[in-house]
Amino acid sequence: MSTDAPKLSPVEGFKDESRYLRGTIPDELKADTDHFGKGDLQLLKFHGTYQQDDRDSRKSPGGKSYSFMIRTRIPSGVLTSEQFLAHLDLCDEFGNSTMKLTTRQAIQLHGVPKTDLKTTIARINECGLSTLAACGDVNRNVMSCPAKRSDSIHDEIQSTALALAMHLAPRTISYRQCWLVDDETGEKQLLQDEKAPEEVEPIYGKTYLPRKFKIGIALPEDNCIDVYTQDLGLIAVVRDGKLIGYNFTVGGGMGTTPSAAKTFPALGKRMAFVKSEDVLKVAEAVVIVQRDHGNREDRKIARLKYLIADWGVEKFRAAVEKQFGAPLDDCTEDDVHGFDDHMGWQDQGDGKWSYGLNVENGRLSDGPERQWKACFREICGELKPEIRLTSHQSAILCDIAPDDKPKLIEILKKHGIPVSEEVSTVRRWSMACVGLPTCGLSITESERALPGMIDELEAPLAKLGLDKDAFTIRMTGCPNGCARPYNADIGLVGKAKGKYTVFVGGALLGNRLNYIFRDLVPAEEVTSTLVSVFTAYKNYRQESETLGDFCARVGKEELEKLCTASA
Ligand code: SF4
Repeated sequence: MSTDAPKLSPVEGFKDESRYLRGTIPDELKADTDHFGKGDLQLLKFHGTYQQDDRDSRKSPGGKSYSFMIRTRIPSGVLTSEQFLAHLDLCDEFGNSTMKLTTRQAIQLHGVPKTDLKTTIARINECGLSTLAACGDVNRNVMSCPAKRSDSIHDEIQSTALALAMHLAPRTISYRQCWLVDDETGEKQLLQDEKAPEEVEPIYGKTYLPRKFKIGIALPEDNCIDVYTQDLGLIAVVRDGKLIGYNFTVGGGMGTTPSAAKTFPALGKRMAFVKSEDVLKVAEAVVIVQRDHGNREDRKIARLKYLIADWGVEKFRAAVEKQFGAPLDDCTEDDVHGFDDHMGWQDQGDGKWSYGLNVENGRLSDGPERQWKACFREICGELKPEIRLTSHQSAILCDIAPDDKPKLIEILKKHGIPVSEEVSTVRRWSMACVGLPTCGLSITESERALPGMIDELEAPLAKLGLDKDAFTIRMTGCPNGCARPYNADIGLVGKAKGKYTVFVGGALLGNRLNYIFRDLVPAEEVTSTLVSVFTAYKNYRQESETLGDFCARVGKEELEKLCTASA
């Protein structure tokens, strides 16, 4: 036997032996414990849930206290008022009474105990949504610009997102067996196990993908979903008012491990133009090439971006063409050139209005000053808007009749919710991942730290006359980069307890990576560091230059000098 056989990562073994993601989840669900064993822990992610423990109480006498994060997959972030209300009910009944709107247009519930896991997932399915493939080594929630418009283009890209989500969803019956039936349906399981892998999972096979896979669809004038951060990005190509296809980008991804030089964030590379009718098949080919050639030995370098870096985009494209069975055309010149966060009132063009509501860091909770949940309950109950989640952790309330516009604002004000027009520009363009206390990978604070920092930045920005300048500030509690910090104008990435790496020089448009300006900056010095950058920008920027463009132009060393000169 050859000794050269690659040593696969342990997760590959769990997947291989899982019988298409089933593992022993049904048995463990019945066991009288508050957590799952090692193998099932990995499989649970494919089902849309992560086992977590409250990091704040780790050192308490009772030890680790386990609960579950449950993520609902919502293509393009489109859901009904009833579905939104169902999630609010679930977070109150089984979760920690808060709900998180994510950076990928999904919803997360936190703090669900193991005893309520099955009921919660079943209830999400009852309302017509699913958690399957919200996490795990598969294609995750497919993003697209969520704006509701009467033009056909928005409808078409949102339909394409839904079609991709359906086409690339795992087809195993294990999800149903684990969560949606009263007891194990052994006969069906046997049927599935006896089939060949290509029959059960024709796209993924037995061991699914080497790592997570993300897809997003953008319009050239509106890159609100950050297309260049996606493993597979689609940029719409429109001619004479008709959507004729997409420019495909491949190999974007934010995660990195600072201690491992082999890891890096990357922007997607433009690969080829794909006609609308071929989108599903070419996307499938991209997935299959990554399935067969992505790294399964080292999960740190298993994302598509590492295969692209290794092969180059031409070799990758040739492999995709071979899998697809025909040559592809080169990308057209169409590229992203605008970004709309869809906040405030927007005319849908059908006599109705949409209202983009800024939800700070996507967290919905009821407190003494702001009652987010009560507010959404009243809006959903009275106005019944369709709801669309944005990639900036906010919500768009759609189909508001002109006569109901004052009513909506009245409900917001009644519950202490700031209308988007009153939210400062810096807060509106900021976002933070969950971080502590729930994320198991978090090194330091994120969502709980950023609002206070934004408070401290508002006055200096106003004093500098920069309070209307739009630039992105994105914070994460670790370098995994879930809030896409590496292409933001400013990225704040947790590096050690209470310390952040400060990145500058990205772009609002999301098409440029930033660079490290300062490392290991204590939390209490982050805002003064940023104010020094803002001051240098104010003093030395060129006409019409954005903050990100300025930082990218001058570079780290010059920026240091300009900050010192501006002090
Ligand atoms: Fe957790 Fe890190 Fe992702 Fe934040 S970036 S949610 S801390 S894994």
